[in-house]
Amino acid sequence: MKLRCDFCYRHCQLEEGQTGLCGVRTHKEGKLITSGYGALVSLAVDPVEKKPLYHFLPGSRTMSIAMFGCNLTCQFCQNYLISQSDFAGVIAGQPVDIQEIIDGAKDRHCPSISFTYSEPLVWQDYMLEVAKRAKQEGLATIMVTNGTFSEEALARIVPWIDAYNIDLKGDESFYHRLCGGSDEPVLEAIRYIGRTKAHLEVTTMVMESMHTLSMIETLAHALHERGVQVWHLSRFFPNYHCTEAETSESFLRQALEAARTGSIPYIYAGNSGMDQSTYCPSCHELLVTDRIRSSIHVLPTLKQGRCSSCRYPIYGRFGS
Ligand code: SF4
Repeated sequence: MKLRCDFCYRHCQLEEGQTGLCGVRTHKEGKLITSGYGALVSLAVDPVEKKPLYHFLPGSRTMSIAMFGCNLTCQFCQNYLISQSDFAGVIAGQPVDIQEIIDGAKDRHCPSISFTYSEPLVWQDYMLEVAKRAKQEGLATIMVTNGTFSEEALARIVPWIDAYNIDLKGDESFYHRLCGGSDEPVLEAIRYIGRTKAHLEVTTMVMESMHTLSMIETLAHALHERGVQVWHLSRFFPNYHCTEAETSESFLRQALEAARTGSIPYIYAGNSGMDQSTYCPSCHELLVTDRIRSSIHVLPTLKQGRCSSCRYPIYGRFGS
C-alpha cells in the first residue's frame, strides 16, 4: 500500500521501501519516516542578518542548524552538498542532543534558533521538536525555507515559528526551467504566513541572464499584494550546475528600481556593496545602520517600533 507524505506540496505517494524526491522521507515497514532524524549536517552561530533577516532582532546572533535534504533541484543551489539527494551521505550527519543545541544557543548569547542552510520542510518533524523545546526555554524560532509548503505543513508549522525568510526564486517558468518546482505553493505560503502574526521577509536571488526587469516588477506586485514588507534582492554568483556569469552591480541596481514599482517599503540589495541601512519610509530618518558594517546598531531614532522623528510604525521586532 502506498503512503502519502504531506510534508511539502509534492505529496509524494511512496511504496514500501521508496524514498521521496527529497531523499529524506521514506516508506519503511508501513510507516513514513524521516531518514537520519536528528543527525545534523550543520551547526553554527551566525548573525541573524545572514539568514537574511534585517527586521527581526537586528544585530543579534542565531544558532543555526540543518539536517540533510531538499525537495527542489535548483541548478544554482548554494548548499548542494547538504541538500541535493545525489550527495546524500557525503557529509556525515552528527546526532546532537536537543538540550545541547538550546544550551549552546544560550551560552553563545543567541536569542533565537534558525532552521536553515538546507530545506527544513523535508525534516519538519525534527524542526518542530526543536522549535517547541526552544520556545519553552524562551528562544525565538526562525525558518529559512523555499516556501513549498503543503496546506498540512502550514497548519503544523506556523504556530511554532516566529520569523520566516522565504525564497521566491522567480516566476513559474523560472521554477520549471531551473528548480524542478512551481511558484504556486510559494506564493500561497507567503499569502498564508502574511496573514498571521509571524515575521516575514522574502529573498530573490537575481540572475542577470535569467531574470528580466519585467519579471521583477511582476514579483514585486505579487509580493505587495500579499502584504510583504521586506524584500531582499541578492546578486547571483555561479555555483553547482549554473555557470552563468555573476550578476553585475549595475543590473542589481536596475532590478532594485523595478522592485520599487511594487511599493514594498523595505527593499535591500544582498551580496552587494550597496547601502543596507534601514530608513523610515515616511521621513527617511536613518533607523538601523548599514548591515555591511561589522557592528549593526538600532539607533535611538527607532523607539518602540516607531520612527521617533515622525512616529511612523516600522515593521519588525527590534527588542532583544
Ligand atoms: S517531503 Fe516532499 S518531496 Fe519529500 S517525500 Fe514528502 S512530499 Fe515528497
